[in-house]
Amino acid sequence: MIELSNFIGSIESYDGANVVVFGAPFDCTSSFRPGSRFAPDVMRKESWGLEMYSPYQDKDLADVAVYDAGDLELPFGNAERALAQLREFTQGVINGGKMPVMIGGEHLMTLGVFEAVHQKYMDVCVIHFDAHTDLRQDYLGEKLSHATVIRRIHDIVGDGRIFQFGIRSGEKEEFEFAARTGFINKFNLNGIDGVVEKLKGKPVYVTLDLDVLDPSVMPGTGTPEPGGASFMELLGVMIKLGELNVVGFDIVELAPNYDQSGISTAAACKIWREMLLSFCSK
Ligand code: MN
Ligand code: MN
Repeated sequence: MIELSNFIGSIESYDGANVVVFGAPFDCTSSFRPGSRFAPDVMRKESWGLEMYSPYQDKDLADVAVYDAGDLELPFGNAERALAQLREFTQGVINGGKMPVMIGGEHLMTLGVFEAVHQKYMDVCVIHFDAHTDLRQDYLGEKLSHATVIRRIHDIVGDGRIFQFGIRSGEKEEFEFAARTGFINKFNLNGIDGVVEKLKGKPVYVTLDLDVLDPSVMPGTGTPEPGGASFMELLGVMIKLGELNVVGFDIVELAPNYDQSGISTAAACKIWREMLLSFCSK
């Protein structure tokens, strides 16, 4: 029985799935406004407000075999163990020949998923959408933080493999580090066409921090940052990324309770559907 408590369009059988979506309800390193732990559950319910069919792509969720594995039970207050648990779970998904799709939770959760993806695809590149650089070496002495997650990923992949878009907040050193070691497109999502050309045929991981969207579209997030992308700009980019070999993705940093209108959750669900259809239904 498919229940309303699962994502819309998800199928009953894990074995029959090509894609496994799972929640990582953890927000313990949030520096400003916590609450992203509530996102996966709220998104599941809100997803039933969507149509399965995307008129943008002329594709239907019924044509993608997605299994909803529910939320991982992560140990609050212990980032290291939470990441280890995520890594182990994602390894199982990948070894089963399925694509992992993680719904955060805070952005640090990406690291656990990515470690498993990298074990399988050593030459994987990362496309990162965010208002923030997330490239700090540490944050308040902590190496594991939502503000350091992309730096930790750089520790794994090295130079030339991270492509950042929409970035409009961070320390001067972070911007310099990004320009020196990778690709950074400040303020907007321009330049995606060139990156898609460059990454054709390579395995790609996509991490979407929803605060890349303008707070007028996405007020329900932990660290809103004015001057962001419109929904249609982000949607256009996600459709474009369908030309690539995306091997996993995540959507993080929705904090639904800061937006009583529910618009933020609706936007998160809609971009989830469009990413699934773009990356998984060829
Ligand atoms: Mn982030
Ligand atoms: Mn951010």
